[in-house]
Amino acid sequence: MPTEIAVIPGDGIGREVTPAAVSVLKATGPEFEFVDGKAGDRVATETGAALPSETYDLAAEADATLFGAAGETAADVILPLREAVGSFVNVRPARAYPGVDSVRPETDLVFLRENTEGVYSGHESRLSGDLSTLTRVVTTSASERLAEFACEYVDEGEYEGFHVAHKANVMRETDGRFRDAVIGVADDRGVDCEEVLMDAFATRVCLEPDEFAVVVCPNLAGDVLSDLAAGLVGGLGMLPSANVGPDRALFEPVHGSAPDIAGEGVANPAAAIFSAAMLLEYLGHDEEGGAVREAMKTVLSEGPRTPDLGGDASTDDVTEAVVSRLD
Ligand code: ATP
Ligand code: MG
Repeated sequence: MPTEIAVIPGDGIGREVTPAAVSVLKATGPEFEFVDGKAGDRVATETGAALPSETYDLAAEADATLFGAAGETAADVILPLREAVGSFVNVRPARAYPGVDSVRPETDLVFLRENTEGVYSGHESRLSGDLSTLTRVVTTSASERLAEFACEYVDEGEYEGFHVAHKANVMRETDGRFRDAVIGVADDRGVDCEEVLMDAFATRVCLEPDEFAVVVCPNLAGDVLSDLAAGLVGGLGMLPSANVGPDRALFEPVHGSAPDIAGEGVANPAAAIFSAAMLLEYLGHDEEGGAVREAMKTVLSEGPRTPDLGGDASTDDVTEAVVSRLD
């Protein structure tokens, strides 16, 4: 049976960059069966459900999923989709590339963000007209599972170790549990793990990004700090991500649906194409993943480039340039 890939473009520029990533995957060689799924604002208007159950099941059963973006309905789409693949970690590389104007060209980071709990676990309450609260969930088991993943990531990527960002000096119980669990696993596995307070990290990563390589974070901190790193490397159009679960994974650009440029055919497909490279590597096609990354890198450096990177090329022009380098 060919490997099945669910393709869920969603809304806005998701409908432009996801087909670009599929064209690139088709040019790489391995035999895939692509199955389309609907999600997002459009299907919510048509059917009342932003994530129809067929699409949830598709992601839950496919070997891997390529997702684009969802607009207004983002939370109703991406959170259940991450659950469908059982994702416990969001892998977010933030790398600067030659040819792309970046604040810190030496940046080469990977965030490993906890993807199931923290303050995103949804336990919010309105207690009165004046008072709302949020319950933060941290378990040793989820923190340890993330740390196990980090140790494997460090071993496979031949990194020296990883940092764990937290704020355990203030949130002693929750971030304390998170920190202790992560450091405990790293110690057991003999992997070097250095802790850093997340606020201090925000400053240090701007001043000296090359002090860091792999950074393990709680959910909200990982979301914010990886967007900060996106700013260091030239913007949202560049960053891919992987939501990894025990048996399957979902790949998506970090950017959203960008309604301001949607439909114009000028969205930068780099984040989606780098996400496709991560998908290939996840499925064991390391050589093909590397080739896609190299082809995208060359196009970033030599052009054509989309308007967000100072060029005047279309999404299709960039995609064709990447595909032609793969042939
Ligand atoms: P959403 O609500 O879906 O997150 P948004 O308005 O926040 O949409 P984002 O996609 O998060 O939009 O990105 C913010 C801005 O960055 C966009 O409005 C767009 O101008 C720019 N941008 C993001 N991604 C890209 C891309 N792939 N190519 C070009 N510009 C982009
Ligand atoms: Mg956004």
